[in-house]
Amino acid sequence: MEIQGHSTLRRAEIPDTEPREGIPPEIDVLIVGYGPVGAAIANLLGRFGVRVLAVDKDKEIFMAPRAIALDNEALRILQMAGLEDGDFDKVAIPYVRMVSPQLGEFGRINSLGQIDGHPKLVTFYQPQLEAALRRRALEHGSVQTALGVSLASFVERDDAVIATLDTGDGRTASVRARYLIGADGASSLVRQLIGQAFTGQTYAEDWLVVDARGAERPIDHIEFICDYRRPVPHMTAPGGRERWEFMLRPGETRAEMEGDAKIRELLAPWGGPAAMTIERKAVYRFHARTAKAFSKGRVFLAGDAAHITPPFVGQGLVAGLRDAANLSWKIAWVLHGRAATAILDSYDVERRPHAKAMIDLAKFMGRLIMPRSATVALLVHGTLRLTRLTAAMRRYFDELGIKPKNVFARGLFAPKRSGAKLVRGGPLPQGWVRGPDGAVRRSDEALGPALTLVGFGCDPAEPVDAASLAAFQACGGRVVQFSHRGQTRPLHRERCWEDLDGTFLPGAAPLGWAAVVRPDRTVLHDGPAREADRLVRESLALLGSPIRAEAAYAAAPAAMTA
Ligand SMILES: Cc1cc2nc3c(=O)[nH]c(=O)nc-3n(C[C@H](O)[C@H](O)[C@H](O)COP(=O)(O)OP(=O)(O)OC[C@H]3O[C@@H](n4cnc5c(N)ncnc54)[C@H](O)[C@@H]3O)c2cc1C
Repeated sequence: MEIQGHSTLRRAEIPDTEPREGIPPEIDVLIVGYGPVGAAIANLLGRFGVRVLAVDKDKEIFMAPRAIALDNEALRILQMAGLEDGDFDKVAIPYVRMVSPQLGEFGRINSLGQIDGHPKLVTFYQPQLEAALRRRALEHGSVQTALGVSLASFVERDDAVIATLDTGDGRTASVRARYLIGADGASSLVRQLIGQAFTGQTYAEDWLVVDARGAERPIDHIEFICDYRRPVPHMTAPGGRERWEFMLRPGETRAEMEGDAKIRELLAPWGGPAAMTIERKAVYRFHARTAKAFSKGRVFLAGDAAHITPPFVGQGLVAGLRDAANLSWKIAWVLHGRAATAILDSYDVERRPHAKAMIDLAKFMGRLIMPRSATVALLVHGTLRLTRLTAAMRRYFDELGIKPKNVFARGLFAPKRSGAKLVRGGPLPQGWVRGPDGAVRRSDEALGPALTLVGFGCDPAEPVDAASLAAFQACGGRVVQFSHRGQTRPLHRERCWEDLDGTFLPGAAPLGWAAVVRPDRTVLHDGPAREADRLVRESLALLGSPIRAEAAYAAAPAAMTA
């Protein structure tokens, strides 16, 4: 068995990035922390044309074994951030099973298939994803990075945040930013500087995480071996890798666990340790904590800076990506003068409860994985196995009903339900569509980085007053129509997309329906298309858009036909 340290990792796999470096004196958004969440935000803001400086205290991508699983929501956000399917390797996971040494399989989640155009669950290699995000960010002329540069402090003024950066060469630089985003990880300085202590419990258990290649008996799924003596999550990953996570027993030390002899012993049940290459190993203590508020004034927290979770449901980074999608467009719309500053308050209102719900699920999963004794294991695992005898409970677990839905109870959307399947404050589904050019794409590509008025089997702009439409377009709005397969209308062919798999008709709404969809694909408003003028005006009011319909109409009559 070959054991490699972190420093000898597979650098060849990490594509070269040549960041546009430098520290401008003034910028729209300063991102502190260029990990996966900071890099996703840089891409999203870059797509909206926002001037961004992302700084990171480290020059290199962090190589220790961390996130390995992403769900369909995360993949959709990465798509939104501009990543293409081939940008990083993924392995689709067909199922997740929970196994007890006494009872055998007592739980199973079906992760085969897709939701919103992406596999329900994949494993991936975090450094490769981070490299892809950094590479894509370079495509945006408005994104600059400064690596080896750390935030030292900042002060907030009425109209800006003035940050002091330590440039790593004994000097400091000052940057004036309209907004500052702390994506600086679990030990966030930004969080400390805005006085937001973490609350919530810390797990006392330590875990050894091992990534290896060349297992003799590889698996194609994820399994949790819920042995009270030593629980072990085990999963397949890209590039012939597998991951094991071993809970430390009382008295076991980090040094002992990270030693070659112990790793050999732990991996022996999977056969052929002589042939295995141990790529990465690290002992972690997991935490479950959420900041009391995700923002203060012009400063926002995102990713691990805002919330940290045990990894038992693979949602730490996923939650950070949800933050990125939720926050980026709001900041962009405010900076572009399309929305009132007040919409920024909805970031905390929308994101914090969901992040907390995911952490609660991870804690629940932790209790299943780590029973305290043989008796507790039999009781808990046996009960779960019994509940699976009923079809409803089996569906609930197998089909991920247990996972909190990304639907906001409060936030930036029209109140109440409309009566359609669409939920205001919930996601617009994504399907496969054929565009005006005949190419088949995922439907979010039709929406683009815009606020969208979507028509279901109808042109939603038809009933919209010319002045309202001009204001909508001046507010970053675009019009899209999804029609039944083979039913595109010649009048506005350029905005008409065929719904190839029924995602929209009848999947989301009845014929003749309209919805206003935020750039993060959350439904802002919906109703019958004949009332689209009202939907548009109310949506602009919700955004607090300073763009008045009449003024926009007078200024840009040509936009009406777009
Ligand atoms: C063992 C393990 C398994 C996991 N499994 C999963 C999983 O399967 N799925 C999942 O979704 N998540 C998982 N996670 C969680 C996931 O790895 C994290 O949520 C994710 O990496 C957080 O990204 P981030 O960008 O918020 O923070 P980080 O990746 O920590 O990045 C923060 C960055 O900020 C920089 N920084 C810090 N302070 C400063 C400063 N003062 N100035 C400038 N820069 C600064 C750091 O150098 C760093 O680059 C796992 C984590 C662990 C440990």
